[in-house]
Amino acid sequence: MSIPLIAEQRAAFSRGGVPAPRQAADGVWSIPIPLTGSPLISMFMYLVDTPRGLVLIDAGFDSRTAWTALLDGLRAAGTTPSEITATVLTHNHPDHIGLADRLRAEGGAAVAIHPLDCFAAQRAIRGGFLDQLARALLLAGVPDPERETMLDSARALAVHSESLVPDVLLNEGDTVGDGLEVLHTPGHTYGHIALRDHARGLVFTGDLLMPTGEPQLAPVSLDGDDPGAELAVSLDRIAALPAALVLPGHQYPIADHARRGRAVLAEHRARLAETAEAAARAETAWEVAALLRWARPWAEMGTTAKRFAVVQTLGLLRALQRGADAPSATHSGFS
Ligand SMILES: [Zn+2]
Ligand SMILES: [Zn+2]
Repeated sequence: MSIPLIAEQRAAFSRGGVPAPRQAADGVWSIPIPLTGSPLISMFMYLVDTPRGLVLIDAGFDSRTAWTALLDGLRAAGTTPSEITATVLTHNHPDHIGLADRLRAEGGAAVAIHPLDCFAAQRAIRGGFLDQLARALLLAGVPDPERETMLDSARALAVHSESLVPDVLLNEGDTVGDGLEVLHTPGHTYGHIALRDHARGLVFTGDLLMPTGEPQLAPVSLDGDDPGAELAVSLDRIAALPAALVLPGHQYPIADHARRGRAVLAEHRARLAETAEAAARAETAWEVAALLRWARPWAEMGTTAKRFAVVQTLGLLRALQRGADAPSATHSGFS
């Protein structure tokens, strides 16, 4: 089941292309949409046949191209929007929740998300994505003109995720469609979830675990935030699960998720060491970020790349401050 799917989607990713919709397992379809201008190239929605009907995991980006790609994928799977009973969102980022409202309006699919990623519920606590980002950029010491430009560029993308109102809030241990177990796996966002399909031996990991690259940390914006430590615990947990195949939100599926999970954890610890070394020579997260290694040299990076980098650096610095540079064996709370 897994090998042709991985080979095809890895080949597409390597050449910068978007693969065709494809059956990933019995009753499971992988439906890609293009992410124009992103190094991730595409984003994958997954259609899962459960004992309680069809469930869509993640809902792409809010664009005409994404909607067309979704309809094409559903057609390939022999179904239509009105047959989807629920849209389950791994996390509240614009490339994962974009079509949830439209699917609900056109076909009636209920929208489900973890309460910590439901910005309607977080209004008085954490605020929406833009509130979190604004506080993070202040904490990071980003100078004024750059900070405003970063917020402006984020504002254009975040409209939809700020206003999404779900029908169902999902917590650790809940089950979707009688077939998918919810695992709270924070780090990339505070309310990120993975979904475990016990019967098929599959785990849907959203943006937590991908075959290449460094997982992006959630913005640090409150006193207790430590997304780096949370990420390490979540990765450790996914690596320990028995699964035949891991299906991520981008890139391509992972056959040996235990090895990949351990590798990402090792890279995360190396990144913390690099950050600690840079922090000895700089004051703010903004200054530390300029000293770290990125895909391109700091001086050549645009506003969006620098925004991601500074948010990442802030998370790494917070993990160092809290001494959380390794997954804790005593951490057992996932609620
Ligand atoms: Zn994401
Ligand atoms: Zn994503």
